[in-house]
Amino acid sequence: MTTDLHQFALASIDVAVAELGLDDWIREVLHQPERSIAVQVPYRGDDGEIRLVPGYRVAHSTARGPAKGGTRFHPDVTPEEVAGLATLMSIKTAVLDLPLGGGKGGVTVDPKQLSETELESLTRSYTRGIAANIGADLDVPAPDVGTGERHMDWIAEEYAAVTGRPNPAVVTGKSIAAGGSLGRDSATAAGCRTVLLSSAARLGLPADARVVIQGFGNAGSHLARMLAADGLRVVGLSDSRGGLHDPNGLDVAAVCAAKDEHGSVTAYPAERVSDRDLLGLDCEIVVPAALEAAIDETIAEEIRARLIVEAANGPCTVSADEVLADRGVVVVPDVLASAGGVTVSCFEWQQNLYGERWSADTVATRLEQRMAEAAEALWAVADERGLPLRTAATVLGLGRIADAVIERAGQR
Ligand code: GLU
Repeated sequence: MTTDLHQFALASIDVAVAELGLDDWIREVLHQPERSIAVQVPYRGDDGEIRLVPGYRVAHSTARGPAKGGTRFHPDVTPEEVAGLATLMSIKTAVLDLPLGGGKGGVTVDPKQLSETELESLTRSYTRGIAANIGADLDVPAPDVGTGERHMDWIAEEYAAVTGRPNPAVVTGKSIAAGGSLGRDSATAAGCRTVLLSSAARLGLPADARVVIQGFGNAGSHLARMLAADGLRVVGLSDSRGGLHDPNGLDVAAVCAAKDEHGSVTAYPAERVSDRDLLGLDCEIVVPAALEAAIDETIAEEIRARLIVEAANGPCTVSADEVLADRGVVVVPDVLASAGGVTVSCFEWQQNLYGERWSADTVATRLEQRMAEAAEALWAVADERGLPLRTAATVLGLGRIADAVIERAGQR
């Protein structure tokens, strides 16, 4: 599964390189991460014992600016997965035309098994391991699956302690008190909402279209609330413990309350569905907002929606993508649909660098504008070249990265 993501990233580079007629040396540059480290992450367990887990940080490209990307704490993290995700981040920041490159980090650990003190010990240890490789002008981590603002605050603090150079711009997704941006928390969902609504309008879907959302973490839960407020019907949703279905639309606020109180959406009284059946429910729009490879070729055959909007990174496998294309299902790719988070991360980094504080309205307006512009640019490339949106996104993003790589190499 994890290797699939890396292969997927490399295969999409090849398609874009061919489409753009780029030289082979550029393909080589884009296939390799610029910098990549594996570190040992020793941390102290609550029993006093030291435990050791592996950690990684990959800067795939800094051609357009410092590398940028999240930090994943998950038991399935592998070096290949981190490299694949870092590659996707380079494309993502380029599609959004942010002055940043792409990177990613991860630790192979199950954070759900760790206490707060263990998590802090682990995160600080990981930060010491990667401290020489990160920096506001080098590679800027952020949250991803299994991490959030308190982890980012620990990274900022530990980085300052180790280097003696406190700089909040070294990491984004921090708490507001530590220099975080207003609107960062719900940014992935807000960005996804913008492209979902404009794509649904393009396809002529009804204003009260039925949506299924897989995953109820940061992206999925905020998105469910936003779409319900927009008048769409959330007919199915799920978290890692199971899914819910209501053909008339779930009461999202009540589901959120149940999750807050009992730790899972499954505490809410509604018809239960398996994760697989959830994706095949009768609806117009499916939003995978969980982990990668959630939609394989078998599930792709069962999808009844006309539109898939990828709030997660890499949720469709290569073979699923082919099946969906054959069946005429439009897929708005992750490098656009999940880019709200990194866009507001960029805003946070800019605010930190300039010592500014933007209002929630300013952040929301600039985010919406960026997302809408990127969506327009993407549809234009897709229409001009007759490409599916994913390929068009890679062509758009890689074209911009290649321009910077060529400039840097003095080849013009
Ligand atoms: N982890 C998020 C992503 O995959 C955010 C990265 C960032 O904010 O740098 O896009």
